[in-house]
Amino acid sequence: MEKLIMIKYGELTTKKENINLFITTLKQNISQKLKEENVLIHFDKGRMFIRVLNHNFASILNKLKEVFGIHEIVICYELKTLNLEEIKNELLSLIKEKDFHTFKVETKRSNKKIPKTSTEISSEVGGFILKNKEKVKVDVHHPELIIHLELRNTESYIYFESIEGLGGYPVSTLGKGILMLSGGIDSPVAGYMAIKRGVKLEALYFESPPHTSIEAKNKVIELAKVLSKYNNEIKLHVIHFTEIQEAIYKNIPHEYLITIMRRMMYRIAEIIASKSNAKILVNGESIGQVASQTLTSMKAINEVVKIPVIRPLACFDKLEIIEIAKKINTYETSILPFEDCCTIFVPKHPVINPDSKICEEYEKLIPYKDLIYNAIKGHEVIKIKEEKQQNFEDIL
Ligand code: ATP
Ligand code: MG
Repeated sequence: MEKLIMIKYGELTTKKENINLFITTLKQNISQKLKEENVLIHFDKGRMFIRVLNHNFASILNKLKEVFGIHEIVICYELKTLNLEEIKNELLSLIKEKDFHTFKVETKRSNKKIPKTSTEISSEVGGFILKNKEKVKVDVHHPELIIHLELRNTESYIYFESIEGLGGYPVSTLGKGILMLSGGIDSPVAGYMAIKRGVKLEALYFESPPHTSIEAKNKVIELAKVLSKYNNEIKLHVIHFTEIQEAIYKNIPHEYLITIMRRMMYRIAEIIASKSNAKILVNGESIGQVASQTLTSMKAINEVVKIPVIRPLACFDKLEIIEIAKKINTYETSILPFEDCCTIFVPKHPVINPDSKICEEYEKLIPYKDLIYNAIKGHEVIKIKEEKQQNFEDIL
C-alpha cells in the first residue's frame, strides 16, 4: 500500500473539447511548482496522482494549495488490486488506530467491469467494519469518518479527508494578459482573479521618478512576487512615465490631468500587450471608486484602445476587495505609505464626466506619440520569481 496524493480537477471536467489542454497544462504547472521536490506525476482524464518520493507531504501540500485548476487535494492509499477482500483487510489496518464512533463508506467505481455496484460495495465494506471494529456504527447523515473508496482500472484507492484546492483554471490555458499593477490594494486582487480564470499575466507598472520613490517600486515588486506564486513567475514591465506626466501637468488644464494620464497608460499598455502577444488588459478599476472610474470616465479612457480591458473588480465594494487582499497576503504591502504616480499629480477638482472630444483637443498640446515611443523604447523588464519556500517539517 503506497501513500500518495490524488488531485481532483473539478470544474475542468466540464471543458469537454479542451480537456487535454487543461489537464496537460495543469500537469506542467504542478511540475513547475514542485520542481524542488522529488515527485512522479501521472494522470488520466479523471484524476492526477503525485508519488511523493521524498515523503515531504506537508511542503508539497502547501505548494499545491497555490495552484489554480485543482478542485481537491487528497492524501490517499493506493492498492494494486481490485479484490474486495484485500481492500477490506488493508482498510481495517488503516482505521485500526483511528478514533471514531460513527462512519459511512462512499464508493466510486470508475471501472464499470466490476460486477458489484458502488452501493453494494459500500454496504459490504461497511458491514465488514461493523463486524471487525468495536463500538462503531453507521451514520449516513453526519458521520465522524467518511471512508472513501475509489476503484479504478487496476488499482483501488482509500482516503478519509480532502483539502479544498483553489479551483479556477490552470494558468496559461486562456492565454496571456497584461495586468496594470500599481502599488494599491485593487490591482493585485484584480490580477489574482484573472490568474484564477487561467490567464497568464505579465505586469506593467508606471513609475515617475523622482516624484515616486524606489520604495514605491519595491512595493510593486513585492506585490508581483506574491502574484508570481500563482502565475509560475511574472514578468514586470516598468515604464518610465515621468516625461509624459510632466508634459501633461505643464500643458493640460488640471481637471483633465487624470483622464489624459490614464489614456496614455492605456495606449502604452496596449502596445506592450501587442509586443508580448497578450490578448487583454487587466486592471483594478471599480465602478464609481474615484472620479476616473465613473462610467463616463471609463468610456473616455477606454476609447483610446481596441484591446479588451477586463476589470475583475468592476462591481466589487472596497470592503470586499480588502477582504480578498488580506486572504491573498497583498494587503499589508499595499497599504505601505509610498506615493504612486497617480497620487502625486492629483488635481483638486478632477472632471467627473470627461468629454472625449475635449481630451483629443488637449492631447494636441503635447507630443504624446513621441513621448510614448520613448517611454516604451526605454522600458525595463524584471523577471520576478517566487521566493524559495522553506521546507516545513513533515507533519503528516
Ligand atoms: P489600486 O487600484 O491598485 O488600489 P489605486 O487605487 O492607486 O491602486 P487607481 O487610481 O484606482 O489606482 O487606478 C485604477 C487602476 O489603474 C489600478 O487598479 C491599476 O490597475 C491601474 N494603475 C493605476 N496606477 C498605476 C500605475 N502607476 N502603474 C500601473 N497601473 C496603474
Ligand atoms: Mg483603485
